[in-house]
Amino acid sequence: MAHPKTERTLVIVKPDGIQRALIGEIVKRYERLGLKLAAIKMLVPTEEMIEGHYLLDPNWKKNVGAKAIESYEKKDETPPSSDPIEVANLVVERLKKYMTSGPVIAMVWEGAHAVELVRKITGGTEPRSAGIGTIRGDFVVDSYQMADSDNRAIRNLIHASGSVPEAEMEIPHWFSPKEVINYRVPHEATLYDADIKSILG
Ligand code: GDP
Ligand code: MG
Repeated sequence: MAHPKTERTLVIVKPDGIQRALIGEIVKRYERLGLKLAAIKMLVPTEEMIEGHYLLDPNWKKNVGAKAIESYEKKDETPPSSDPIEVANLVVERLKKYMTSGPVIAMVWEGAHAVELVRKITGGTEPRSAGIGTIRGDFVVDSYQMADSDNRAIRNLIHASGSVPEAEMEIPHWFSPKEVINYRVPHEATLYDADIKSILG
């Protein structure tokens, strides 16, 4: 089995993250944890790329549809449909509009527990309820309530892979193998070497 330090995850700074001038802040938060940037590029995604991205996981529609219906019901509101797939189709249409509205930055971050730790730093999907200290909790105000009443995607600055299998599908969707670079940084020795070598003079 590969060493856990080789785990990789996909992060996308969404168009609102670029507009808010948060690129440096977002990169800093993953970098200072000790994760290593393995790939980065700026692009304006096509609708096909976004639709393909969200449909990589065959269960995504069912899960997101069910989650959306639950969030309508919690607010005592009627969902646009009782069928999770139909609700998810609506979410995908909104995401396509949002994610193709301007440039995004796609990145691959590497390190032990990269998927889980990036999600922890990024915070929950809805900025309104995302934890204090997370990127979504600290830098943006959006809610399902506002997004739904304006028929738009929730503006939450970032996409981050939700699981290791999701990351393994998403990385090749955004990057060719040559664009993801294998290299070392000195602090990896301190983070991962089984025996820490003496640093005394
Ligand atoms: P993430 O991994 O935290 O980004 O969340 P998901 O993968 O579950 O959802 C992806 C995107 O779909 C989110 O960033 C939202 O824009 C949208 N979305 C997910 N769940 C809901 C929901 O319950 N209601 C609405 N309106 N949009 C949602
Ligand atoms: Mg997700």
